[in-house]
Amino acid sequence: MASPTYATRAIVLRKTKLKESDLICTLLDESGAQRRVVAKGARKPTSSFASRMELFCEVDVLCAEGRSLDVLKEARVAAAHAPLRDSLELASAAAPMAELLGRLAQEDLAQPRLFQCTSVALGVLEGASVPAAPALCAAHLLKSLALGGLRPQLASCAVCGAPVGPGAPARHLSFAEGGVVCPRCRRLVECQPVDGPAVAAAAWLLATPFAAIAQEPPPLGEAFGALRIVQGLVREHVGVRLRSCEFLFSCALF
Ligand SMILES: [Zn+2]
Repeated sequence: MASPTYATRAIVLRKTKLKESDLICTLLDESGAQRRVVAKGARKPTSSFASRMELFCEVDVLCAEGRSLDVLKEARVAAAHAPLRDSLELASAAAPMAELLGRLAQEDLAQPRLFQCTSVALGVLEGASVPAAPALCAAHLLKSLALGGLRPQLASCAVCGAPVGPGAPARHLSFAEGGVVCPRCRRLVECQPVDGPAVAAAAWLLATPFAAIAQEPPPLGEAFGALRIVQGLVREHVGVRLRSCEFLFSCALF
């Protein structure tokens, strides 16, 4: 009896070699759940999957349910996002997004806004200027954490809730508490000094649509400061050190 099939739109997050010519594609499907599917023969030069299952591609796929992994039957490109592979700078900024989603998205957990957020982010990033790329990356990571139930607390103290902001800029941050800490609470929890403009940039990136960020990105120093904050939060709450984020810090591309 033929295996049941299903159709979904998905974003390619990762590709792993399997056997001689197959690939395992890790996908974020339109429900926001993660799926791992086998693309048989995808590494043969003649395979139609080779060009369609590229990293960051948005694809309409038809899959057959398998015992352990589902099997890709058909794939059609909905949005190729080619500039994200052609430009080293844009590729470097897109990589942490895919890496975090590979950890954050779960197989049986629907989070549709995670897919929508990522689809919009990739679409804006592919048309963005290089100096806007780190800010768009940081914004996607911050918004993804929030959609995954790990919203960073950047405008009020993560311990007591007292407002911090323009009048009383945040000077300390606790990764364990998930946000900034006011002067009164900083002795109560483990926290570290933090750059005020970086916190303000992170709060702005969390709250601002991607298109507006691309038009008027914060200065690079603040965008990288926001990236370091989100990387610390990911390490603490998702339990992973984003290697592609480390690359952004060391690559000197920006
Ligand atoms: Zn406090």
